[in-house]
Amino acid sequence: MANDEMLVFKDVMSLALRQMNKTFYSNKEVFLRELINNALNALDQVQFEGNTHKIISDDRLIRLVPHKANKTLSIIDFGIGLTKEDLAYNLGVGFYSAYLVAYKVIVTSKHNDHDQYIWESQPDASFIVTKDINAQQPSRGTNITLFLYDNQLEYLEETTIRNLIIKNCQHISHQIYLSNENKKDDWQLINIWFQNQERDNNFLAQRHMNHVLDDLVPSILSKLPLKSLKRFGCVRRSWTLLFENSHFMNLFRNNFICNYHSYYGDECIFLNLTQVHQNLCKSSLFLSSGERFQNMEKLPWPSQFPDIIGQLYILGSSSIHGIFCLQAQYRRQHAYLWNPTINEFMVIPPSPFDYVPDYVDVVILYHGFGYDCVRNDYKVIRQLSFANVTDDDDDDQLPHDRFTAGCVWEMYSLRSNSWTNLQFGGGIPECYEVNNKFYLEGMCHWWGYQDHFIEHLVSFDLINNVWMMTPPPLDIPMDTYDKLEMYLVNRELFLLNGSIALISNYPQTTTFYVSILIEVGKKETWTKLLVFGPIPYIRFPIGIGNMSNILFQTDDGDLAWFDLSTHVLQKLGVNVQGRFSQLVVYKESLIRIEKE
Ligand code: ADP
Repeated sequence: MANDEMLVFKDVMSLALRQMNKTFYSNKEVFLRELINNALNALDQVQFEGNTHKIISDDRLIRLVPHKANKTLSIIDFGIGLTKEDLAYNLGVGFYSAYLVAYKVIVTSKHNDHDQYIWESQPDASFIVTKDINAQQPSRGTNITLFLYDNQLEYLEETTIRNLIIKNCQHISHQIYLSNENKKDDWQLINIWFQNQERDNNFLAQRHMNHVLDDLVPSILSKLPLKSLKRFGCVRRSWTLLFENSHFMNLFRNNFICNYHSYYGDECIFLNLTQVHQNLCKSSLFLSSGERFQNMEKLPWPSQFPDIIGQLYILGSSSIHGIFCLQAQYRRQHAYLWNPTINEFMVIPPSPFDYVPDYVDVVILYHGFGYDCVRNDYKVIRQLSFANVTDDDDDDQLPHDRFTAGCVWEMYSLRSNSWTNLQFGGGIPECYEVNNKFYLEGMCHWWGYQDHFIEHLVSFDLINNVWMMTPPPLDIPMDTYDKLEMYLVNRELFLLNGSIALISNYPQTTTFYVSILIEVGKKETWTKLLVFGPIPYIRFPIGIGNMSNILFQTDDGDLAWFDLSTHVLQKLGVNVQGRFSQLVVYKESLIRIEKE
């Protein structure tokens, strides 16, 4: 064999062919997309490597040449080209997809600094690489000619090719020309996107996007938890663009809704329902189970609470290591820690601010219960607002001045079993609701209001004692915003399969917009996940279960589960009062409530 020839034996090629068949068999048309993508990469590479390459006039385009008489289709690019070694060793599944439609393939390729070579497959599934002694122009690039099977001749038809390009290659930034067999030198530009769109600044990003999307990467990425995706996003800017891509978002949405198994493990659903008993509003705790959460088993509150009590709330949307933080609406609004598994209970002691004089009215809002993993400590965040309830203008009373219309923020630490005053510059948006708060990965989050109207997500970092605000997303279509003021939109903050999620709707409407936040503090990372509804008689969401199911309260105060994957609404046959019912996720644990 001459020095410039190389014969590669069966097993290399047949392995690649087998693999290719497994990957693509049912979808033969992918061959064109694969070969065009390879051509695009080759063109890009020339650009990225700058002016070290010869400038040739056809630098930025791809040509498709169907030849009906010969039953061949050629894909020609003027990209970087393949060296002899590339041809012998680097061709992979993408290239071999040509064999889905062709019984024979010939590649002629010229790399800038190398001679031109011809790669030709043999009928026995081996191939041969030879130097092209007749090499002429072009001075660089690749020509791949497919000899089509008789039952694959549709790929010589102009309409078939056009449709495939529209389907698979609409967003690519290089021009693709199709030759007209009858008129030599009559080239038609066939990628519509290129004809219609301006080359904007996103050009390069879009192209990368397309490359990413054209292989298996999106389907793998779409299965990753948001946390991992965030990490990738930092590394590869183009991957953050994934979230703007509808194909990726479809995959991501489906996986997101279905990934509850891994996230929630063996957690169960508790419902804390506010119902009327003997003219008294009372909180009752239930374990909700069954395939459709139809079973309701009443659970006892800690024995320290007498049976007939007022309202008792669970702070946040889950237990932390099996421990709940409870908050009473009576008994001076105390808070408690409770592990139902081992029935351990503790009263959180008062702070100096709990001992206000009688003429001061105090309102306590509990905003978060969470875990500081650095100090192995459980913490509670609250805000106390004071108002002077007397008309007393006797200025001699010092405490009076101190407590006039003010507010303080405090943090309780279980380790030290005491409250400390949090010094913040500027007011933190407050959360008045029973729901709309949860703990996630070192942070307490709540949906806060400033001056009653300006809304923000507030995220309090329990390790560093700092807080951050994230403005709401523009999730509801803008044309509707024009008609209604933004602050009228109902917003409910939830933890949805491990992500910060906001469910928004207009008052009196039952179409709900769900967005998830990818990075705290970055408004632009709110990502529209899905829209559902309208659902007649539904009023507002109470919480999200562990099966991508949302618990709603209806106009009549009934409860109903809405399944995000099937869109089935299932009434529970339970009636509640007000806006005070809760859904919390509980995980059994033997962890004790331990002080230092
Ligand atoms: P894979 O499926 O692993 O991407 P391909 O067969 O599609 O494998 O391509 C393998 C390699 O061959 C590419 O990484 C590229 O370096 C080279 N290649 C394929 N087609 C071309 C082309 N038209 N121009 C230049 N290089 C190419």
